[in-house]
Amino acid sequence: MSTDKQKILIVDDMPMNIKILNEVLQEDYLTYYATGGRQAIEMAKVLDPDLILLDIIMPEVNGYEVYRAIQDDDNPAGIPIIFITAMDDDIDESYGLNIGAVDYITKPFNPSIVKLRVKNQLELKKQRDILSKLAAIDGLTGISNRRTFDDSYKKEWTRAVRMKSSLSLLLIDIDYFKLYNDSYGHIQGDLCLKKVAETLQACLKRPADLAARYGGEEFVCLLPETNIDGIIQIGSHIRASVEGLKIPHEQSLVSKFITISIGGSEARPTPDISPESFLSHVDNILYQSKKEGRNLLKYDVFR
Ligand code: GH3
Ligand code: MG
Ligand code: MG
Repeated sequence: MSTDKQKILIVDDMPMNIKILNEVLQEDYLTYYATGGRQAIEMAKVLDPDLILLDIIMPEVNGYEVYRAIQDDDNPAGIPIIFITAMDDDIDESYGLNIGAVDYITKPFNPSIVKLRVKNQLELKKQRDILSKLAAIDGLTGISNRRTFDDSYKKEWTRAVRMKSSLSLLLIDIDYFKLYNDSYGHIQGDLCLKKVAETLQACLKRPADLAARYGGEEFVCLLPETNIDGIIQIGSHIRASVEGLKIPHEQSLVSKFITISIGGSEARPTPDISPESFLSHVDNILYQSKKEGRNLLKYDVFR
């Protein structure tokens, strides 16, 4: 069952402390717990909690070490952490806040105060999540925007180099779209862009695949761990699906309906190939499919 409840990971080597915190928090949040640092690190990775309540003094791996282990260089605002420590522990409160904890709670704690502080932090987290989702999405079409593509492409390229795996790109451009706007108007043009974007999205099945608006009436599909067979399969499906929308386009010189041209290529990324050079190669393939008549999928393997 899906739920909107935010997730809290409670980390403490004393089960009694976990129990007390759980009692005040379980009603409003999904609570999870770990009784050691190592377990906490593992759970944080799998669970991606919205907040961690982290005891500092623990045997083996302490709270500071847990904190460092789950820092995400790509996302410094990642998971907010509230440190929890006993009043008489020889701990420097400013140290915890300095390294980035969002709050600091001392034991013995008043459960209803803890509840309020947790609530504050989780409200902030919710706002941040909304903002970062908005920033990743193209306002008109609702699919990922160029920035999201740029980020994901960089990451997937690096991963493909490391894993020695293939990575494919499809660049997609609507045929004679200027003429479409001229005859049906800009609002209808926007609607058409939305439909094409939805269609692309629906054609991609794997979780790592990404469809994004590349700019204007151009789109891009990022297909990690996909080779030329995948390009042919997905690219043909996309081309046919857009044609199958049967969006009337009387002035088009290639069809009575809206069509797209696609350039696709498979790369086998290595450290001495730049991702930019592959992208501009794919752009050339797209140009060829325009030149050779439009409403076409052209593809190759990048060397
Ligand atoms: P080709 O077949 O060679 O791709 O021709 P084209 O007319 O599609 O290409 P061109 O690049 O000349 O024109 C693209 C048009 O896309 C021009 C612009 O008005 C339109 N366009 C770009 N962004 C948007 C948008 O957000 N909304 C609408 N309605 N139109 C857009
Ligand atoms: Mg264009
Ligand atoms: Mg075009």
